[in-house]
Amino acid sequence: MTKELSHKIIRALQRHYPDVKPDLRYGNRYQLAVAVILSAQTTDRQVNAVTGALFRAYPDFESLARARHSDVMRLVRSTGFYRNKSKNIIEMAKVVTAEHGGRLPGSRQELERLPGIGRKSANVILSMGFGVPALAVDTHVMRIANRLGYADSRDPLAVERALTACIPERHWTLAHLLLIRHGRAVCHARRPLCDRCPVNPLCSSPDKTR
Ligand code: SF4
Repeated sequence: MTKELSHKIIRALQRHYPDVKPDLRYGNRYQLAVAVILSAQTTDRQVNAVTGALFRAYPDFESLARARHSDVMRLVRSTGFYRNKSKNIIEMAKVVTAEHGGRLPGSRQELERLPGIGRKSANVILSMGFGVPALAVDTHVMRIANRLGYADSRDPLAVERALTACIPERHWTLAHLLLIRHGRAVCHARRPLCDRCPVNPLCSSPDKTR
């Protein structure tokens, strides 16, 4: 991948999805961190369906840190893996309350030390919550980066490095959102809708359907 081709891809996607924005609903960093943990292995829609009641019951790190596991489990049940997710958000809230004065830390190192938060989640939180350039690689980003020729790897870190080497830092957050939107709308894992794809002429993937 060249920087020139990458620029064309990002511009074409931007023109095609001019209103791109995060699908997860959150109003502050506390809500963002909780929503990101809950979003593992499920859709943003599923997460949005439970966070209203969850945030009404537990409006901040302190209240969530005091929550009963069984109560939180009941509220997040429909997001799947609810035992672990509820445990992680409570434990994360305890650490933020005890060690960071109830404020989400803004460094990668500190974020990745919180229960339930790995590199991908830290990247989402850094870029969406703190305006720090970061490019999170989820399943859509991974698939499309490989199809478009940014990377030839199933390793999220290698794909992240390949993308950030070609895309200017100021566009990392945008590129993340565009690739996710493109994956959901057009470049599906099975049967991508290549006849509707705005970057079709720039794609030489063997997965192309036409
Ligand atoms: S042409 Fe097809 S495979 Fe290539 S990016 Fe577009 S939808 Fe995906």
